[in-house]
Amino acid sequence: MASHEGLMMTSAITDFWVDSDWCLAHYLCIDLAPVFFEMRDEGWAASIRPTDFTSMSAADIDAVLWAAAHCPVAAIKVRLSSGEVVDANSAVLKTLARRSSSS
Ligand code: SF4
Repeated sequence: MASHEGLMMTSAITDFWVDSDWCLAHYLCIDLAPVFFEMRDEGWAASIRPTDFTSMSAADIDAVLWAAAHCPVAAIKVRLSSGEVVDANSAVLKTLARRSSSS
């Protein structure tokens, strides 16, 4: 089985965050998923993590994946249940985000 197929079967998120070294404060993630991203006083976006990732709804996961896939500088990092960390430069993340937008 190709690694893409394996990841598509288990797209649960175990963590996500914004790399403040890369964030250029486009606000896009905040527009796309305001429940999970906010602007900090320092001028970069911060991710808001659920206390229990297992309780994230499918819509919550889709929102985070969609925002991460659209970050213009790949500053949003998402750790999948496989342990792999993906960002907007990752074909895996783009595939997952596309899949979630069409479901
Ligand atoms: S979309 Fe990316 S660059 Fe823009 S505010 Fe969010 S994390 Fe920062």
